[in-house]
Amino acid sequence: MPTFFELLQDTQKKLKSVSDTGATLEAEQLILHAFQCSKATFLSNLHQAIDNADALERCYETVQQRATGMPLNYILRDVIFLGQRYHLDPGVFIPRPETELLVQKSTQVIQSTCLNSTKALTKQCIIYELGFGTGVISLSLAKALPQAKIYAWDISSKAWNCAKKNQRLHNPSNVHFSLGDFFKISLPVKKTHDYAVCVSNPPYIADDDFKALDPSVRDYEPIQALAGGKEGLDVYTQLLVKYKHYFNMFCFEIGMNQKEKLDSLLIEQGYDQY
Ligand code: GLN
Repeated sequence: MPTFFELLQDTQKKLKSVSDTGATLEAEQLILHAFQCSKATFLSNLHQAIDNADALERCYETVQQRATGMPLNYILRDVIFLGQRYHLDPGVFIPRPETELLVQKSTQVIQSTCLNSTKALTKQCIIYELGFGTGVISLSLAKALPQAKIYAWDISSKAWNCAKKNQRLHNPSNVHFSLGDFFKISLPVKKTHDYAVCVSNPPYIADDDFKALDPSVRDYEPIQALAGGKEGLDVYTQLLVKYKHYFNMFCFEIGMNQKEKLDSLLIEQGYDQY
């Protein structure tokens, strides 16, 4: 059997075509994952012949999966979001770094609207998330805003299972994940001091752009978390039209080049601040 060093070199070579600059790091991550060992153990055994045939087989299999385009996060089954590790199941949308900005901005604006200088609530903030995927947005908001109540929906049972695992992992007391279509539920009647916020990273890829997506996204990630209709604006439009009188604030991630069209939609729908 090869040494770990030989396996590392061989793996790097196999990964060059999918991840030229990241091949070394990815090769190491896949080996550590297959052998379930720490980097220190790996380095101290670098020139030893491998004696675990099952782990070696597992390693070859996952390297093959990666070399044919499967995203690394699906193989490793995890993702880091805002410095925290979350579980990730294949078929659930992989959180992107840009979505960290959505959480940070939403937190700031919700804090300045609903909390006083001693961080006590001036309004009861109720956050609704549409399309939670792994659950990272709601779980991060729950941590940053322990005073808020968070209700999140997704139509995907894979997403629901994954988010529930992440809920057990991070254990917040103020998040509730539901499986179902947000547009089919009836939201509770708001009380005088309720401040309802809708937070979402909805599918926003326009039909024409979808075909041009990287195959590692298009062929592996859930289409219902990506494809947002002809111009990518279907979900925003539905939310902004249906819930104009319900939500006090919407916090959305939007795609590049969508701002102008969304601004026009907001004006058309009579929103005064955006
Ligand atoms: N940012 C994602 C991508 O480029 C798309 C996210 C979304 O549609 N919400 O793949």
